[in-house]
Amino acid sequence: MRWTTRIAAAALVAVLQACATPPAHTPPPPPAMANEARPPVTILISIDGFRSDYLQRGVTPNLARLAAQGITGPMRPSFPSKTFPNHWTLVTGLVPDHHGIVGNRMEDAAHPGQTFTTASDAPYWWNAAPPIWVEAERAGIRTGTVFWPGANVAWGSTVTKADHGDYAGGARPRDWLQYNQAINGTQRVDTVLDWLRRPAAADRPRFVTLYFDRVDVVGHDYGPNSPEVAQAAAQVDAQIGALVDGLAALHQPANLVLVSDHGMSETSDTRVIPLDLPKDSYHLIEAGPFAALTPLPGKEALVEGTLLGRHPHMECWRKAEIPARFRFGSNPRIPAILCLAEPRWMIVEKLPDAPFTRGEHGYDNRSADMAALFIAAGPAFRHGTVPAFDNVDVAPLLRDLLGLPPGRGLDGDDAPFRSLLQPR
Ligand code: AMP
Ligand code: ZN
Ligand code: ZN
Repeated sequence: MRWTTRIAAAALVAVLQACATPPAHTPPPPPAMANEARPPVTILISIDGFRSDYLQRGVTPNLARLAAQGITGPMRPSFPSKTFPNHWTLVTGLVPDHHGIVGNRMEDAAHPGQTFTTASDAPYWWNAAPPIWVEAERAGIRTGTVFWPGANVAWGSTVTKADHGDYAGGARPRDWLQYNQAINGTQRVDTVLDWLRRPAAADRPRFVTLYFDRVDVVGHDYGPNSPEVAQAAAQVDAQIGALVDGLAALHQPANLVLVSDHGMSETSDTRVIPLDLPKDSYHLIEAGPFAALTPLPGKEALVEGTLLGRHPHMECWRKAEIPARFRFGSNPRIPAILCLAEPRWMIVEKLPDAPFTRGEHGYDNRSADMAALFIAAGPAFRHGTVPAFDNVDVAPLLRDLLGLPPGRGLDGDDAPFRSLLQPR
């Protein structure tokens, strides 16, 4: 369906919605009309690793149309500009330092011997802050997730048998699927549309998350400037076009909030910074765009003396001395020393043995290479642009869309969007 036809369909739905509350003396609407009067669904869509400027490459006509209809602007991720910390920020409104997912890989002295990876769904890693789907379910709003980091987790549950993955209690989205990379983008979109096609309104979610990983994966493998990334962006754009068409065919009004978690920076074997430390002097949590490590007992002076301060293309701090603008450094899961490379550079334990051009993220969250996608369109939005804002403001916006009260103690608020929302 052409966009103009979609607008016409959306306008028709709006008109029908306006007719949906008849005065007491009119008979109930015929079934076809009742079907039209669907309340809007809020769909939070993440295109992992979609750098803000990919929008200008001329390969994403569906995203361009949504941006032209609604609101758009460059969004700053939170530090570290990695997938799991930022997805959890987007749904909690807290910076990683406060919500506890401080990296894609972490350790925690409170859980000795355990290492968090992207496959970890033990509740204690996630329990510091409730995600928006838990808040929505508590308020009686049905939710569904076609993937989101943390959506596999029974949030708020407790471990009953260590190492056996047995948890008691906890809340999940009403509809959710175990993460599976092999489920392609088209299947993900079809799953959302199938949920919204359910005949009974009470069975249909009112808040949905939809996650696409392909642009990130290809960005890592080929670098952000590659034709492969343009092709992956075009492919996900077409899948989002199919979602918009499917919603129009169902006469389902929708507020779409499209985001990415971070951008992508081009790395190369010619831009590497070896960690110049004896192997037995430190314990490394992760290296790459940043290195997070702890000196081994007795080696503190050696490690600090070698690393702390400025180096060519890298700077290192004790965790308590990380500059305030990163809003990172108080969480017990952050190890003693953080080193941060300039965008395009990589901190490595050993020099690469073959040439490469790839992509990476995790850098300074204010760098242009890390700038993330933001587009919001649907009946709740006017048209306009938002000046650059921090991604902690997305969860407060979602709360507004769902009619939830403002969250307490969040790191962001809905200020960037207030003048761009239609009156309720
Ligand atoms: P990153 O290492 O920061 O680039 O993380 C991106 C990767 O996270 C992608 O390759 C995804 O396949 C993976 N991923 C995204 N969501 C999930 C999830 N819910 N569970 C496990 N892995 C995921
Ligand atoms: Zn990511
Ligand atoms: Zn990635």
